[in-house]
Amino acid sequence: MYSKRHNNGELKSANNQSHTQKFRDVKHVFEKPSTKLRLIANGLTSDQISKCFNLAFFITAETKLTMFQFKTLHDIVFTKSRLFKAKLASIDLCYLYSKTKQGLRHMLVSCPVVSEFWNVFLEWSETLTETKLELSTVKILYNMVS
Ligand SMILES: [Zn+2]
Repeated sequence: MYSKRHNNGELKSANNQSHTQKFRDVKHVFEKPSTKLRLIANGLTSDQISKCFNLAFFITAETKLTMFQFKTLHDIVFTKSRLFKAKLASIDLCYLYSKTKQGLRHMLVSCPVVSEFWNVFLEWSETLTETKLELSTVKILYNMVS
């Protein structure tokens, strides 16, 4: 009815162009390699980024650990903060140290309970290897120990 009064081909063509342009705009937004940009912003080189992604698949045969490393690299771990934003948790505070929001960095590095683990790990590593490891947040988050 509406399309019969107007030139159907032109209308369709105009709509397709509009959809195509919208698709390009949206595609452009989603195509940015946000993970790689975030890792670069954290000071990792292209070689280190490549190692991070490969490490997740050859360091262990345990699929759950591999997937956890993969999720950490892509910053898609379901922390309390993320669950709270999705309205799947009533609070966003760390369950070990309830004074701070539990984001990924807090969960894996800066939580006082986790920090104690890293201190014990560093002592153990030093006694075992007689070399002192220097761990930064980035090294811990992206498995850059060596
Ligand atoms: Zn905590």
